[in-house]
Amino acid sequence: MDIILLGPPGAGKGTQASRLEEEHGMVQLSTGDMLRAAVKAGTEVGLKAKALMEAGELVPDEVVSGIIGDKLDELGPDQGVIFDGYPRTAAQAESLDEILAARNRKLSHVIELVVDEDALVERIVGRYTCGSCGEGYHDTFKKPAKEGVCDVCGKSDFKRRPDDNEETVRTRMKEYRAKTEPILPIYEKRGIVHKVNGMGSMAEVNDAIEAVLSL
Ligand code: AMP
Repeated sequence: MDIILLGPPGAGKGTQASRLEEEHGMVQLSTGDMLRAAVKAGTEVGLKAKALMEAGELVPDEVVSGIIGDKLDELGPDQGVIFDGYPRTAAQAESLDEILAARNRKLSHVIELVVDEDALVERIVGRYTCGSCGEGYHDTFKKPAKEGVCDVCGKSDFKRRPDDNEETVRTRMKEYRAKTEPILPIYEKRGIVHKVNGMGSMAEVNDAIEAVLSL
């Protein structure tokens, strides 16, 4: 089973993908995470991506499609995948079809997380993670039980994404509306798009996704 989680920045794609990894043994392929790792490692891809990411603009299609193809080649043929943050343009959707067909893989579901955009800005601007174990937190919605200490690993090494500021978030939203939303009809024509209300609690959204996957 290969699925796409689609939705604007802050819709909860990463959170839900992690849950699906735990519950179904699937693998999350997040181009955002891969690009951040490349920036940190200072690779050629990272050097190309850094300024674009900081501005909230999209990285060139061939760069992200290249890293997705490479990652899939590291996985077994029966390993289900959750695409998180990819594809984001019509050209990437086309590349994904080719990448999957070449590996005898097929998309089973595209899950669109439907969210209220104004609420998203608050969600994104307040979010941070534990730099040590990766647990996610929020200034308003999910504070650690003991201030400044991670609930999961006990470390005090929190970090925020450099592109999680209001100005960059607005650009990322614009990019989503202009380039990503228009790819939905490609999948609607195939009858594989399922809309899920992304504004509920993490558990509610997860239940709604599970219901879709069991169809
Ligand atoms: P994300 O973690 O998915 O919010 O992605 C963070 C940033 O990485 C985006 O704002 C883009 O600059 C870049 N990025 C991630 N995935 C893609 C993609 N599929 N195509 C182009 N740029 C991407």
